[in-house]
Amino acid sequence: MNIHEYQAKSLLKKYGVAVPRGGVAYTPQEAETVARELGGPVWVVKSQIHAGGRGAGRFKGNPEGKGGVRVVKSIEEVGKNAGEMLNNVLITKQTGPEGREVKRLYVEEGADIKRELYLGLLTDRATGRVTIMASTEGGMEIEEVAHNTPEKIVKVAIDPATGVQGYHTRKIAFALGLEGKQVGSAAKFITAAYKAFIDLDCAIVEINPLIVTGAGDILALDAKISFDDNALFRHKDIEELRDEAEEDPYEIEAAKHSLNYVKLDGNIGCMVNGAGLAMATMDIIKLYGGEPANFLDVGGGATKERVTAAFKLILSDSNVEGILVNIFGGIMRCDVIAEGVVAAAREVHLHVPLVVRLEGTNVDLGKKILAESGLPILSADNLADAAEKVVKAVKEAA
Ligand code: GDP
Ligand code: MN
Repeated sequence: MNIHEYQAKSLLKKYGVAVPRGGVAYTPQEAETVARELGGPVWVVKSQIHAGGRGAGRFKGNPEGKGGVRVVKSIEEVGKNAGEMLNNVLITKQTGPEGREVKRLYVEEGADIKRELYLGLLTDRATGRVTIMASTEGGMEIEEVAHNTPEKIVKVAIDPATGVQGYHTRKIAFALGLEGKQVGSAAKFITAAYKAFIDLDCAIVEINPLIVTGAGDILALDAKISFDDNALFRHKDIEELRDEAEEDPYEIEAAKHSLNYVKLDGNIGCMVNGAGLAMATMDIIKLYGGEPANFLDVGGGATKERVTAAFKLILSDSNVEGILVNIFGGIMRCDVIAEGVVAAAREVHLHVPLVVRLEGTNVDLGKKILAESGLPILSADNLADAAEKVVKAVKEAA
C-alpha cells in the first residue's frame, strides 16, 4: 500500500526525521490559509498523487504550462496555483499517459536548497536485509542513476540484530560528501528513518531529494513510503491513510472478497486456484500466443460466493475477450467451482468464450454441472489444451 507525500512526512517526523513544515489543502482557500499560518516569504505548492516525477510533470490540456510542484512568493500566488492544480489531471513519467487527478495539495515552507541528494531504504531480497541506498545524484530517478552511473550509489545492508550503527551512518554521510555537523545530522536522520521503516513494516522509504540547505541543515524535501501489505493488519492507523481514489478499483473490489487479483494488459481473463498455478496458467497462455488480462488466485478454500465474485470481477474488465478457468480441486471441490461458474455466468450476461479446465476432487460431478448448465462452456482436459482452446476461441470471436 502506498500513501501520499504529506502522510509519509508526517509519519517520518514522528520518528525524528527532519522535514519542512507544511499542511494539506483540498481547496485554494485552504491552501492560502495553510500558507498564511506557515509564514513566508516562499512557499511550495505540491500536487499529492501516488506517483513521482510531479515536478517535471505537466497538466492535461496544458503541455506548455507549469508542473505539479511550484515554488511561489505570495499568498495570492499560492491560491492561484492551487486553483490551477486541483481537480486537474497531472501527467508524469510514472502515471502513464492517462495521468492522475489532483485532489489534494501539500503547501510547504520554501527551502533554500544547496544540494539535492538521495536516500532510500528497502528490503534487499538478495541479502535478506534492509538496505540503505544513498547517492549524491538526488532529484532524479534512482533507476536512471543505477543505469547510467552505478558507482554513484552506495549501499549499506543492516544486520537486524544490531540495527543502524555509527559506522553505517558515517559511511553514508562521507559518501554523500557531508561534513562537520552535517555528519551528526545525517546519523540522526538515517537512524530515525530506519526505526520508522522497521516499526511501520515498510517495503520502501524513499527520500528524493534529501537536501542540504544553505544553513547546512539536512531535510527530507520529498518522501515516499510503501508498506508491506502482509503486515498491514498490525497497523490499523496506517490502513486508514489509504486513498482509494489512487488505487485500481478492480483491485479494491478483489480485496473485499479476499481474492488475489492483479490487473494486466491482455484480453484473456484467468481464474485459478493457487498462485503458482496462476503463474503457470499465465505462462502457458502466452506460450500459445495469447495475453493474460489478469492474475487471479481465488485461493485454496474458496466458496461459491467467492468464485462468483471472481467471475464478475473478470467480466467487469472491458478488455476481456475470453476467460480461462483453471482449477485443481484439492481442498477446493470441482463441483463447487462449477456451481460458482454457472451461477456467475447466468448472473452476469456471459458474452465471451469460456474455457474451463477442472481436475481433482469431484471432477466428474463438476464437469456434469457445466455440461448440463446449457451454457456455451468449452471443456478442456489439461492445461495446454485449455490454453490452446481459449486463445483460438478469442481469435475466432474477434
Ligand atoms: P517529484 O517530482 O514528484 O519527485 O517531487 P519532489 O517533491 O521531489 O519535487 C520536485 C523538485 O521540486 C525537487 O527536486 C526540487 O528541486 C523542487 N522543490 C521542491 N520543494 C522545493 C522548495 O522548497 N524550494 C525549491 N527551490 N525547490 C523545491
Ligand atoms: Mn521526488
